[in-house]
Amino acid sequence: MKTIKGTIANKGLVLGKIKVFYDEKINISKEKINDTASEINKLDAAVKKSIDELDKLFEKAKVDAGEEEAQIFEVHKMMIDDIEYQDEIRRNINEEKDSAAYAVSLAEEKFYEIFNSMDDEYFSQRAKDIKDISQRLIKNILGIKNSFNEGLEEKVILYAEDLLPSQTLNIDKDKLLAIVTVKGSTQSHTAILAKSMNIASLVNLDSAFDKSIDGKTAILDAYEGALIIDPDEKLLKDVKERIEKEEKRKLELEKLKTAKAISKDGTYISVYANIGNSKDLPLALKNGAEGIGLFRTEFLYLGRDSLPTEEEQFKEYKYVAEAMEGKEVIVRTFDIGADKKVDYLNLPEEENPALGYRAIRICLDDTDLFKSQLRAIIRASHYGNIKIMLPMINDVWEVKKAKELIKEIFNELKEKNIPFNEDIEVGIMIETPAAAIISDDLAKEVSFFSIGTNDLTQYTLAVDRQNEKIARHRDIHHKAILKLMEMTAANAKKNGVKISVCGELGSDPDLTEFYIKNKFDKLSVNPGQILELKDRIINS
Ligand code: PEP
Ligand code: MG
Repeated sequence: MKTIKGTIANKGLVLGKIKVFYDEKINISKEKINDTASEINKLDAAVKKSIDELDKLFEKAKVDAGEEEAQIFEVHKMMIDDIEYQDEIRRNINEEKDSAAYAVSLAEEKFYEIFNSMDDEYFSQRAKDIKDISQRLIKNILGIKNSFNEGLEEKVILYAEDLLPSQTLNIDKDKLLAIVTVKGSTQSHTAILAKSMNIASLVNLDSAFDKSIDGKTAILDAYEGALIIDPDEKLLKDVKERIEKEEKRKLELEKLKTAKAISKDGTYISVYANIGNSKDLPLALKNGAEGIGLFRTEFLYLGRDSLPTEEEQFKEYKYVAEAMEGKEVIVRTFDIGADKKVDYLNLPEEENPALGYRAIRICLDDTDLFKSQLRAIIRASHYGNIKIMLPMINDVWEVKKAKELIKEIFNELKEKNIPFNEDIEVGIMIETPAAAIISDDLAKEVSFFSIGTNDLTQYTLAVDRQNEKIARHRDIHHKAILKLMEMTAANAKKNGVKISVCGELGSDPDLTEFYIKNKFDKLSVNPGQILELKDRIINS
């Protein structure tokens, strides 16, 4: 029995056989050729085939891992077509008289060195991509099949030194118990994919890559961060029992995928998913989300150097709306500010960012910025059941002003004959005590409320949600918070406005009965929590 420790990329416990994956290095001998035209033809055909493959991978990855993750294949397409890279290969063929495959391998080496020598995370990732695209081209020149999925007859614990993005996304998901990589980080594509598929994953092992473990029985305990090879009888027995219990529970819960969460007293509460972008969709759909209750669109603005264009956003919202096939998709306009900083917007430094320039407060100042997002959302409303949700609302005038801007967009789109849903509903988040207290007035302006308990807690208790030093003052079940929620729900009911919760308290087991009692219409939670929550409602 041998235990290898690593970093947990996604929690889980599995027992199975290890399948070692490694890319056989293709030996390309230095070969001089006379017929350069024929080598150029081989190269052109391989480029075309590679681009076709990448197009297919892009479509597959969009479904498996979401639009954002799939973008890597668009990048690969651009890299294959890159003029400098292509010129280098063609020069090797035409001037050096190298075979097409050898010419690509030389270009791979050269560009890999250039990118890898740059002391920058972005470029070292591009170095990996150069290898990825070059290997694809070489295989296509030589007519070698991409055999990555071959040999996966049973579900396995996939073990690799590292996985290239295309390899990760090319793996047949039905054959996977878990993914373990000797290298890699929790931010790697592998980790992200494992999370989006919700399978156990360990990365960054404390032991070097070892091909000899292929076929061995192993336990991946991705609760404890351990890969245990050749476990002894006692451990095997324990783990089998644990897995059996987990499996039974999972199977029981899976039955609830299409069930309606109706409590014992007959109250029906819809269970929706919160998403940050389209890559969270597969798990939401797998777990039977009845809709998207919170699409945190600010994530489309984070982690980049410039604003996402209206077109980029439109595509993302349209994609989600279409994937949800007519189910509600509540798109929250961006909640930038406080902890969600966007450097390129050059917003001023503030003494109290959480009480400062944030969300709707930015939107109502920079109306061009706001309208560009609203236009993308409203245009996408033609393709599904999209609703608009405004964050950090404190007062009626803010809603009125936002609605005026929405009207302006309606007129602009009509003038240009661009289709959209003119009946698109507008709702608000209830995230401040002020909003909860005047919820009777706010209800007259909107179609729905969604309580953001994360912020409602911080603002009600004056306890910064980022500050762990004051954790013991953060009583998430504080009577004041429950009272504000009750009041909001009552005002919503009184005015015929739908009421939901999309903050973390939505999935809090101690509050399920509270939501039933106060007749909440829906609870929107992280995709992984949907089934547990349905189960609790049904049994309450
Ligand atoms: C909330 O405040 O509860 C909420 C859902 O919004 P966020 O966590 O994105 O601030
Ligand atoms: Mg909030």
